Amino acid sequence: MLALDFVNTLTAEEDRLPQWLAEQGLPWSEAVLELRGHVEAAVLAARDGDEPDLAPVNAALRGAPAYEVLSWSGSVVRTQERQGDEVSRALAVLAGAAADLLTSPAVLKVKTCEGPGCRLLFVPAHPRRRWCDPATCGNRVRVARYYQRHKD
Ligand SMILES: [Zn+2]
Repeated sequence: MLALDFVNTLTAEEDRLPQWLAEQGLPWSEAVLELRGHVEAAVLAARDGDEPDLAPVNAALRGAPAYEVLSWSGSVVRTQERQGDEVSRALAVLAGAAADLLTSPAVLKVKTCEGPGCRLLFVPAHPRRRWCDPATCGNRVRVARYYQRHKD
């Protein structure tokens, strides 16, 4: 999910935002960094049934409105493009991804990983899943429990 990937670029250890944006072909900017914080806050509020602050997300959407373009490629193809400069378009794409999540029933299922020191958000494939990644955070918890149990 693009919105969660965006939010999850800030891990407990590092900020992967510049790298992630480059992978997405999007430019880094201070505004993108700020939008990430707003998206995270909005997702957590919506998950908890509280009214999110939607103004920053709306502003990003408004900054580069989408329009449709028809072109010919053996048949008529409809694509979507956006107005605005590169940064405004990046903000609008990320805000659009946030809008997809915020308006989806999946937002109610978003969980914060219970792994020690982990802050990643995820939508569990299984309702009882507690870790962003059972192979890393889940394993870390199991190992810690094992040592706890075998300490005495
Ligand atoms: Zn985790």
